[in-house]
Amino acid sequence: MEKKVKGLVLRSTQYGDYDKLVTVLTEEGKLFFKARGIRSITSKNAAGCAPFVFSEFQIEQRGDKNYLKRAQPLFTTVRQGCDVVTLALASFMCEVAEDAALDAETGKSVLKIVMNALFILAKEDRPADLVCSVFEFRLLASLGQMPLFDACARCGSAFDDDEILYMRLGEGDFICPACFTGRDENVRRISRDVYYLARRSVSAPEKEAYALKMPPAVLKEFAQLAERYFLFQMERNYNSLKFYHEVKRLPEDVKKEIEKKDDTV
Ligand SMILES: [Zn+2]
Repeated sequence: MEKKVKGLVLRSTQYGDYDKLVTVLTEEGKLFFKARGIRSITSKNAAGCAPFVFSEFQIEQRGDKNYLKRAQPLFTTVRQGCDVVTLALASFMCEVAEDAALDAETGKSVLKIVMNALFILAKEDRPADLVCSVFEFRLLASLGQMPLFDACARCGSAFDDDEILYMRLGEGDFICPACFTGRDENVRRISRDVYYLARRSVSAPEKEAYALKMPPAVLKEFAQLAERYFLFQMERNYNSLKFYHEVKRLPEDVKKEIEKKDDTV
């Protein structure tokens, strides 16, 4: 049986000398298939099966296995050969999408969020940490982990005069300084600016969510909060996230060397 389906390539792994195993996120959830002969220089399907590309796939189903017949690229987001920090972050987003899209319902919402984040990232006109943090907050919100922003979770005060707030990572809510009872590794002290950024990053429409401007110090604090909350809620670590942080720290000339090597693969 054959079917046509559109989706985003999350992962493409070498299999044998000429084949690849490809993981795609569609509106119906994840799809796995084997792309035979795709590593041959004459393959017409290579561009459509590259990571971060949204393509239309013609798939042949045999038993419980799927085989690629044709891959037609429709939209390119982050391109191979762009800067290594962008590529590393795109890989993290795709790993998260693969992890989070469990069924048709989550597949659709995760696909929308990851596609938009990849498009923004591809433009390279926003700080990578900002894109990462807004993506983390929005993804959690789509999975039902929307933080409770309205008021202090203990006393109900509206945070009107509070310059410092505390986010409880486990509960996904905020408390005022008067209700903060002492050090707790799962409670993050944050500035009011960061509270507003977190709030806006999940309440804004998808197209405006990443249009945020902030001083570097606030962005750093926001990124730390987003990552801690994200990892706490997902209950796992991501190697691709560690790699993203590692490449960010590399000197500029080393990054350029890696990019040159990537171009020649
Ligand atoms: Zn309170």
